Amino acid sequence: PQLANQIAAGEVVERPASVVKELVENSLDAQASHIDIDIEKGGSKLIRVRDNGSGIAEQELVLALSRHATSKITDLHDLEAISSLGFRGEALASISSVSRLTLTSCTAGQEAAWQANAEGRDMQVSVRPAAHPVGTSIEVLDLFFNTPARRKFLRSDKTEFGHIDELLKRLALSRYDVSWQLNHNGQTVRRLKAATTDEQRLKRVAALCGRTFAEHAAFIENQYGDVRIWGWIVHPAACSAQLQCQYSYVNGRMMRDKLLNHAIRQAYGDSLLADQQPAFVLYIELDPRQVDVNVHPAKHEVRFHQARLIHDFVVSALNDALTQLNP
Ligand code: ADP
Ligand code: MG
Repeated sequence: PQLANQIAAGEVVERPASVVKELVENSLDAQASHIDIDIEKGGSKLIRVRDNGSGIAEQELVLALSRHATSKITDLHDLEAISSLGFRGEALASISSVSRLTLTSCTAGQEAAWQANAEGRDMQVSVRPAAHPVGTSIEVLDLFFNTPARRKFLRSDKTEFGHIDELLKRLALSRYDVSWQLNHNGQTVRRLKAATTDEQRLKRVAALCGRTFAEHAAFIENQYGDVRIWGWIVHPAACSAQLQCQYSYVNGRMMRDKLLNHAIRQAYGDSLLADQQPAFVLYIELDPRQVDVNVHPAKHEVRFHQARLIHDFVVSALNDALTQLNP
């Protein structure tokens, strides 16, 4: 199983940020409202994700570390309506085959916490009692220690941490209801309180996208039928090459979609100079049956059934917002 898991890991785990992504998605699946991420040496030494979610019951710890045992896809139709982020049932097994992974968890119904890890070529899981509040901590030490060729591909700590921070940005901009903390080498890099009001959300946007963004961004909100768009868009005069902030979400998922980007560009029209990029944080919400999400986890693409309508709606909503905005 170790080899099979390592091969699977090749698809899931490219670098420390991909480990963080899988672990955080599990925490969100477990309804966590607070997520703590500790990183050492860009994640090559340590990645620890701690949440206050529902936890994993003692008798499920072994399953959680086994490949495909937990796949939530039971039916092809599920592919069309995946509500949980994790569905492949192999992330933990894969990560644990290329690192020293320890899983510690406690559920509300349990009196005590349990800890598990898998070792050796047969990936034998051992379980022991531990101390932990309700929720889960997963510690990943020495990523790729046993796959030297992969370890060699890791970039500098700074670059790897940069990828993790960028991931945290995307996640934090999609889940205002969750509070986040990110530490690197013992230093707190980000601490974000849960945000429920527009003002608190803008504060989070300012923390993540910078003051310039927050000062020149207009709040937009518009609805057409059951398609809704909301978020912030920056006046063209304030857009600069430095102001790298382009985030769009469809039904809560981060997207880099051609159609959306085209619509955003079109709304800005000729007002941007050659070296300027639009700056925005935008959320589009619509009936999930009106959109296909590419199930490949690395591709941030969607297909809208009513593509033309969505495109034109986005252009006109942004046009409205931009004309009301002063630089
Ligand atoms: P998947 O998320 O695709 O099911 P994973 O390998 O990522 O597969 O996780 C295996 C299982 O372990 C999950 O299905 C879930 O039941 C459990 N699990 C993992 N992380 C957590 C967590 N932070 N909180 C609660 N349960 C978790
Ligand atoms: Mg998962």
